[in-house]
Amino acid sequence: MKSSILQKSFDLKDYIIAAKRQIHIKPELSMSEFETTAFVKSELTKIGIDMVPLDSDVGVLGLIQGEKKGKEIVTALRADMDALPIQETTDLVDKSIVPGVMHACGHDCHTAMLLGAARILVSMKDQFSGTIKLIFQPAEENLFGSQHMIEQGVLKNPNVDYIMGMHGHSGYQLGQIALREGSSMASSDFFNVKITGTSGHGAYPHRVGCDPILAASNSVMALQSIITRQIDALDNVVISICTIHGGTAKNIIPETVEFSGSVRCQNKEIRKTIEGKIKKIINGVSSSFNCKSELNYHYGVPALINSPEVTKALWKSAEKIVGADNVRYIDIPAMGSEDFSRYLEVVPKGVFARLGIQEPNKPEILFHNGNFVFPEAALPYGTALLAQFIIDTNQ
Ligand SMILES: [Zn+2]
Ligand SMILES: [Zn+2]
Repeated sequence: MKSSILQKSFDLKDYIIAAKRQIHIKPELSMSEFETTAFVKSELTKIGIDMVPLDSDVGVLGLIQGEKKGKEIVTALRADMDALPIQETTDLVDKSIVPGVMHACGHDCHTAMLLGAARILVSMKDQFSGTIKLIFQPAEENLFGSQHMIEQGVLKNPNVDYIMGMHGHSGYQLGQIALREGSSMASSDFFNVKITGTSGHGAYPHRVGCDPILAASNSVMALQSIITRQIDALDNVVISICTIHGGTAKNIIPETVEFSGSVRCQNKEIRKTIEGKIKKIINGVSSSFNCKSELNYHYGVPALINSPEVTKALWKSAEKIVGADNVRYIDIPAMGSEDFSRYLEVVPKGVFARLGIQEPNKPEILFHNGNFVFPEAALPYGTALLAQFIIDTNQ
């Protein structure tokens, strides 16, 4: 039997799809979600939801007050709103009209589902207690938006007790919801390395004896030994060198070579050790080639750690929406990152769910691709999950 909330969500399907299409057709890049912000505000205003003014042109914080007698819990629901610098190549009716910009990660759908959940919750105020915060954040794709919203004070005044977020996932079928306790997504840090030698004639390398290309090449190779020889094989760490630049001509040894990379970890103790290990290798290798090295290391978002307690609670809510058979445990943590982890640092009692969007007998949906299509049929399930979580938590 469908839960009454799933039924309400299906009743709202046309609204949720219309909202999604409105956002999808006019995608906006990270920190430029001006029209999306205005649209969300106007939709919340229509249903009488109060908004907390933010010192920012992007992002919205809506508040719904429950009217049932019960615990004065504050629960936040979060959606992201930004698109990507990708040219859309689908033939959807709401295909992007902005050249080179596209909702290719489904954040339009996340926003539309939270708008749908807001409508359901407003109509059920007598069935939950406490306060609901609706966080519509900018800039998830560059992993800065959650920090921006935290700095805007969205988790304070009143302080948030519980938080939930959600993302579409092609590894699960449409109509499924997937959850995982504990470490679920990786931290994301990045670094730049500059190796300096002496430039000279390519025919006479021995006259300078400090070729930064050779030092950089050996450094790139040696950095992989951190994973295989310095970290337990059962711990998940990725180090990827993703850019390398140096030189101007085939017969000139350049003075400098620069490369940059990405570091992903599940474990925060291991994460703390990686910068030192990278520094030791690039310094050692560079000096053995008579070169100097410089490392700039930047710490990004932490690993995403789901609260076991809240994950169990959401599991029960999910069963009410899609049935016990369709709630799946995510066996393996992902090495991708999600800036929702920053909220969880402040509010550990939180969970990030995965909404299945893969349709049977269709090619695998590819995220961050010009042909990405988030099936609209998945929207009522995500909408219902957000609302059900509130009804079950705020009692
Ligand atoms: Zn994305
Ligand atoms: Zn995304």
